Amino acid sequence: MVANQTVSLSDSKILVVDDTPANIDILASILEADGYAVSFATSGEKAIQLTLLGKPALILLDVMMPGMNGFETCRQLKANPETADIPVIFVTAKTQAKDIATAFEAGGVDYISKPVRQEEVSARVRTHLELRALIHQRDELISQLKGHNEEIRLIARQDPLTKLANRRYFSEVLDKEWANALRDASKISIIMFDIDFFKFYNDLYGHQEGDRCIEKVARTLESSIKNKSSLVARYGGEEFIAILPSTDEANAILVAKEMCGYVEALQILHGESAVAKVVTISVGVATCIPTQDYVSDSLIKSADNALYQAKKAGRNQVYIVPD
Ligand code: GH3
Ligand code: MG
Ligand code: MG
Repeated sequence: MVANQTVSLSDSKILVVDDTPANIDILASILEADGYAVSFATSGEKAIQLTLLGKPALILLDVMMPGMNGFETCRQLKANPETADIPVIFVTAKTQAKDIATAFEAGGVDYISKPVRQEEVSARVRTHLELRALIHQRDELISQLKGHNEEIRLIARQDPLTKLANRRYFSEVLDKEWANALRDASKISIIMFDIDFFKFYNDLYGHQEGDRCIEKVARTLESSIKNKSSLVARYGGEEFIAILPSTDEANAILVAKEMCGYVEALQILHGESAVAKVVTISVGVATCIPTQDYVSDSLIKSADNALYQAKKAGRNQVYIVPD
């Protein structure tokens, strides 16, 4: 629904409550002439039952009735979240200041004095139906906006090609995990991955096929990470990075080697690789226990150095920089 959409009020359901049938007849004829669907109740108790069943758009409520009076009926409607937002207009002969105050305190939005006049009933009913429709539109827009904000928040964290976390979100997660590890004096590992001879792959198979290869490698890396607090992100072009909180060197190497094997097992043909017939990755691992004067950038740098060494040592392998 959009804000400036006109609202059709003509088929709104209105509940008229009065213990005197003649009063109901008068109000019903005015409202039906205005195009509303009218139902009625002759007591407060019945009015509450009907409201719960039929959810009218508005209630016209008599004050003096045997049994539960109009004020009490209104209070009960307002106390129930299912009926609380239905506007109640009192129709009353009691128009002294203290009666009017009680009507508003009970939760009424307005009052019409008896004997009723057609123009006044039409105008007040229409005003409150319009108000209610506007409030609903506003609530609808607010919930749409909340939904869009959530979508935007997710998109801002994501790399569009691989749907992995992007570098920015990776930094956010790293900052949080770094703070946790510093507090707990626990180990934290970083793994960096880079596809081998990927420029040649692009040159041979084309950029689109290159994109598909990056996506497949991304999916494989993502599914190799089992720990919920770990995260794989696309770090840039054909480079990926993973953070493994509470993970020591030995386990980080295990994960890295597994990933190396899984990528090779994808069997994506690479006719220009000097190390294999298929696409492979080189992997650098670094682990540390954070301290006040060791920043997370240094650990990333170590992992990057390890990756460089893995390349130098022949690619398609894992290298670690000891801490
Ligand atoms: P090395 O084994 O030393 O890593 O060699 P390499 O060729 O993989 O490394 P280099 O850094 O020389 O080349 C990376 C290539 O990755 C170059 C670039 O065109 C390609 N690339 C980067 N981002 C993308 C992308 O989003 N899609 C595709 N298709 N190619 C990309
Ligand atoms: Mg690279
Ligand atoms: Mg590369």
